[in-house]
Amino acid sequence: MAVKISALQAFQILDSRGKPTLEVEAWLTDGTTATAQVPSGVSTGRHEAKELRDGEDGCYEGQSVFSAISSVNGPIAVALRGLPADNQELVDQRMIEIDGTSDKSNLGANAILGVSCAVARAAASHKGQPLWRYLAGEREPRIPLPMINILSGGLHAGKQIEFQDFLAVPHGFETLTTGLEAVVRLHGSMHRLLEQDGHVLTGVADEGGWGPRLKSNEQALEYMVRAIELTGYKPGEQVSIAIDAAATHFYQDGKYNLQSEKRLLTAEQMIDLYAGWLDAYPIVSIEDAMAEDDWEGWKQACRLLGSRCKLIGDDLLATNPDRLERAIEEQAANAVLVKMNQIGTLTETMKVVDRAHEVGFQAVFSARSGDTEDSFLADLAVASGAGHVKIGSVTRSERLAKYNRLLRIESNMSQKQAA
Ligand code: PGA
Ligand code: ZN
Repeated sequence: MAVKISALQAFQILDSRGKPTLEVEAWLTDGTTATAQVPSGVSTGRHEAKELRDGEDGCYEGQSVFSAISSVNGPIAVALRGLPADNQELVDQRMIEIDGTSDKSNLGANAILGVSCAVARAAASHKGQPLWRYLAGEREPRIPLPMINILSGGLHAGKQIEFQDFLAVPHGFETLTTGLEAVVRLHGSMHRLLEQDGHVLTGVADEGGWGPRLKSNEQALEYMVRAIELTGYKPGEQVSIAIDAAATHFYQDGKYNLQSEKRLLTAEQMIDLYAGWLDAYPIVSIEDAMAEDDWEGWKQACRLLGSRCKLIGDDLLATNPDRLERAIEEQAANAVLVKMNQIGTLTETMKVVDRAHEVGFQAVFSARSGDTEDSFLADLAVASGAGHVKIGSVTRSERLAKYNRLLRIESNMSQKQAA
């Protein structure tokens, strides 16, 4: 007899920005329990599933999540009681049905995701399997290559520059363990370089990278190359660069507003800018190169740049199967960023990844800028076989919880292989 869900309960906790979020606990009929915590973005896209916050009636300036907690403790708990815990699809489908909206705004995507993850973790624990093994099912698990935030701008760093992330991709290393060490050293090199040049750094940005006020967005790329070299690596051979432009957030009235440079660019000019950067710097991917609804811009970017780098849709695709389908059809991207809370259930998240792989799109699992000490994402990324992960930088424990979990999984996997 399959083990069943017996109870669910949610609590309010705080995320890495000190903003309320949920922790959900799931109980199974055999007494197994497990919890999961829910992340939250700030550079969010319009097409994401909606998290429920209390607004005027709440505390924490309206950011409290007691309404989402009520969804879990009330209608979701009632609807899921007695369902087999290891039938994730059924569990997620039932929540989608009782929510009844296309963006999960009735029960809240934050409520639904917390339950989805807590139930999966409890089911894995019941079976005595590591979470990544349980989530993998028929898929081939793989330790992912990380893209690691070194410099931050945009909404994550007081808009000192417009582009949101400049990331290091340590592809020239055999293991995550050695690649991570290289990037920790690089993060330190960047600190030294910036201080030498007179930048005053009093802390890190929302995802743990440095957030200096630079003269231009391109200067971030110059610093990336210098920091890679200073650490003793060859740019493009051992460590390359990834960018998350998060262009939705500086798109105004049909133009891209690089306010820090006092420049207003058309989509064509943005693509020219990228083409020049691809010539000059070892860039392997650009995320949200264009704004979330600038489909024409995306298509043109794909035509002109798609063979030279990965064009990753984050706000564009919002981990949404319909938007992914449109991008495949219109050749508007060639890679997808995957964030569980953009869509709200594990089943739908995995569907997006599986479909991406089917058509040869790269899939990159991503944390949120407001995250928690929950390491679920690490197991999920390994389980999916996606091969790529974006967790932020190598400081701040909400990031390290996930890297540390990946280190542990890598070590366990290699011990198994050696045995
Ligand atoms: P967010 O940013 O979590 O604030 O949305 C992450 C990203 O844009 O990739
Ligand atoms: Zn992004």
